[in-house]
Parts: sequence; structure tokens; C-alpha cells
Amino acid sequence: MAEIKYNILHKKVKNASLRIISSTEVRVTVPIAYSQKLIDKLISEKQNWITQKTDLMVEREKAVEIDPDVFPLMGIDYKVIYTPFMFTDIKIDYNRHVVKTKVDMNNLKVRAFLYRKLAYKFLKPRILKTAEEDGFPLKKVIIRGQKAKWGTCSSLGNISLNWKLMIAPEFVIDYLIAHELMHLRYMNHSLEYKRELRKYYPRTDEAQTWLKAHNNLLRIY
Ligand SMILES: [Zn+2]
Repeated sequence: MAEIKYNILHKKVKNASLRIISSTEVRVTVPIAYSQKLIDKLISEKQNWITQKTDLMVEREKAVEIDPDVFPLMGIDYKVIYTPFMFTDIKIDYNRHVVKTKVDMNNLKVRAFLYRKLAYKFLKPRILKTAEEDGFPLKKVIIRGQKAKWGTCSSLGNISLNWKLMIAPEFVIDYLIAHELMHLRYMNHSLEYKRELRKYYPRTDEAQTWLKAHNNLLRIY
């Protein structure tokens, strides 16, 4: 098993607390006056709990291991074909669901770069079109790569969408677009907001289930 790294933070807090960041990292927040001896004691007392939680993280991180021969795009597994002598770096055949490439698709940075590019090509026009057709007062669309959120909406009418959405099936992408656009009418998650969203986008529950099940995609990229 990998060694666990403990990040000790001395802060103006009353009680010490532990937080599992990943399978190999635990954050320990302690009051300013806490000694190293007390920290060691705390960690050893909580050892069972820490092991249990980090083991769980190992399982979760494993579940999203990247298959180098597959590039999931909008819910479809595109086959990756290595073509070392091609002219461009990457070429996508949207009809045959093939990605031809001469660069290493094992590299998460390469994948992230490609998804981000595809988000500008597909995600941005999609939300702009929906907003215009259905009369949502959308000001600006920002493509981002947040670690914890699929999208956000500001009170100024700006919406940010996570490029990692490009991995999701189209009905999930459309749900997130609907979710954020509806915030332009209701800046909250009130019952009224939820009712209107379900009416406007009937596959809401199904899409939310997908997003919850694939939440770890946000962290691996
Ligand atoms: Zn929301």
C-alpha cells in the first residue's frame, strides 16, 4: 500500500480535525498551540478510520482508470487508433467514432486539452442556441475545468460549464445546460426552481443520477 502523506495545518480552530484528500493524502487541521506529540497521538488513535477511508479512495480512484484505447466523447466510446505518420496530431471521425492520433492518449493532459477544445466547439454553441431559442437572458459563457462543479451561474447572467461534461452523454449535457439556464430565472435551488426545471427538462432525475455516479471524473482531470 502507498504511504500516506499527512499535511498538518495549524489554524485558529477549537478542535482538531482530519480530512481524507485522496488515497495517499490526509489533511490534519489542528489548533495553533497543538504539539507534534498531540498530532502523532491523534493520527495513531484514528489509524483504523484513516485506513478504512483511504482504502475506499483507492477503490474509487481505480474505478476511473483511463483506457488508452478509448476516448469517451458525449457518451460514446471512440476507438483510439495510433497513426504515427499522420499530418495533424489528432483527427476525429464523428461518424465512425474513431480518434486517429500520433500523440500519447495515455497522457491526461493531452486528453484534457482535447476535451477543452471540443467544449468550445460543441458545448458553447449548444448552450447559446438553447438560451436564444427558449428565451433565457444569458450574457456570457465561460468554459472551465473545475474540480468540484459541473457548472455555475452568476447573478450577472454568466454561466460557466465544465469541459469534463464532454465525456457525458448528450442528455446529461442538455440537463446541465437546462440546470444552469434555469438559474437565470431562479438564483437558488428552491422547490419552485426544481419544479420548473423538471417541467422544462423531464430527464432531470436520470441525468442527476449519471452525474452523481461519475463525480470522480471531476477530480481525475
Ligand atoms: Zn444549481
